[in-house]
Amino acid sequence: MKIPFNRPLVLGDEQKLISEVFANDQFAGKGKFSAQCQQFLEDEFRYKKALLTTSCTSALELASLLLDIAPGDEVIVPSYAFITTANAFASKGAKVVFADSRAGHPSIDENEIEQLITPKTKAIIALHYGGVACEMDSIMQIAKRHSIAVIEDNAQGIGSTYKDKFLGGIGDIGALSFHESKNVHCGEGGAISINNDALLERVETLWDMGTNRADFKKGKVNSYGWVDVGSSFYPSELNAAFLSAQLPTLHEVNKKRNTLWNGYYDALKSFAEKGKFELPKIPSFAKHNGHIFYLMLRTKEQRNNLIQFLSEQGISSAFHFQSLHRSPYFASKYKGAELVNADKFSDRLLRLPLYHALNETEQEYVIDAVGRFFAAH
Ligand SMILES: *Cc1c(COP(=O)(O)O)cnc(C)c1O
Repeated sequence: MKIPFNRPLVLGDEQKLISEVFANDQFAGKGKFSAQCQQFLEDEFRYKKALLTTSCTSALELASLLLDIAPGDEVIVPSYAFITTANAFASKGAKVVFADSRAGHPSIDENEIEQLITPKTKAIIALHYGGVACEMDSIMQIAKRHSIAVIEDNAQGIGSTYKDKFLGGIGDIGALSFHESKNVHCGEGGAISINNDALLERVETLWDMGTNRADFKKGKVNSYGWVDVGSSFYPSELNAAFLSAQLPTLHEVNKKRNTLWNGYYDALKSFAEKGKFELPKIPSFAKHNGHIFYLMLRTKEQRNNLIQFLSEQGISSAFHFQSLHRSPYFASKYKGAELVNADKFSDRLLRLPLYHALNETEQEYVIDAVGRFFAAH
């Protein structure tokens, strides 16, 4: 049996809606399908505003522009993160200050944040790893105390919650990804969510090339022009149409992924109880969307051996982020403390295949292969 690490979601209506783009005769962005997706995100997750972007990376770059991030500013980012989670701010000249993960979960350790804050700190990035929420109440309180912004890197967390709030709707700004590796997607795509009233007006200008076209469309001004910095952040209607087909299926998709996630958890519990490896620990404040299932192995070598063993059985598994403070770009610049948890997740975490099309037989085959490896190790 061959089991890929991921199969991008396709549910059937994508082609039909893309053909409607041909009928509508608008292929560029900001059309009917884009508006539909944005409305869905605002209604479903109670975001004050949602705007589609070409990726989560570009949503983070838009966030960086919106907060006027510039040389001299500092931004607190978990070291266990995607490269552009840091690069969206580093590329604007900000100093990235890396924070450690929680001991029991890859997301940022809220207790490590305050000691990293200086008068230059502009923002804290809360990345919800595997769609499992960070401790947002603590993070929001710290940010409020120091008058700094919170940006949620919610690339993985669509539909997940922290207490009774949807992720991406808690911080000042959130960033979603619709890359094909995410629960719902459009190939490449993303969205920015805005929850802070003070940022609402300007975001649309920056998103729309630095123009006041939104005011023009509302009839507030009789022509539009260059009024601020900005860029062209929006995707084409082809992408938005594809996404329009997928968004309404989100709950069904997340439910299926959670079933698979629980299937792995229950089947592998007995190995964890014997101390063979650790299973993910989900904090009680978090309800997640089944985005990632991972094991924590005892050593890096054992993790790599298991990847190799599974690969020989036709199963693709993968490790994940590599601590950014140890990256070739940053290692020589890094002057902070050791980040033992970030390094632990870099070295010992292994993700198993998990996607909507994975069937029970395939999942059992993966579970069985993991079992055979640990019978011998
Ligand atoms: C996938 C991912 C991104 C990047 O998303 P793109 O849409 O590919 O730019 C950023 N952050 C995290 C945590 C991700 O998982």
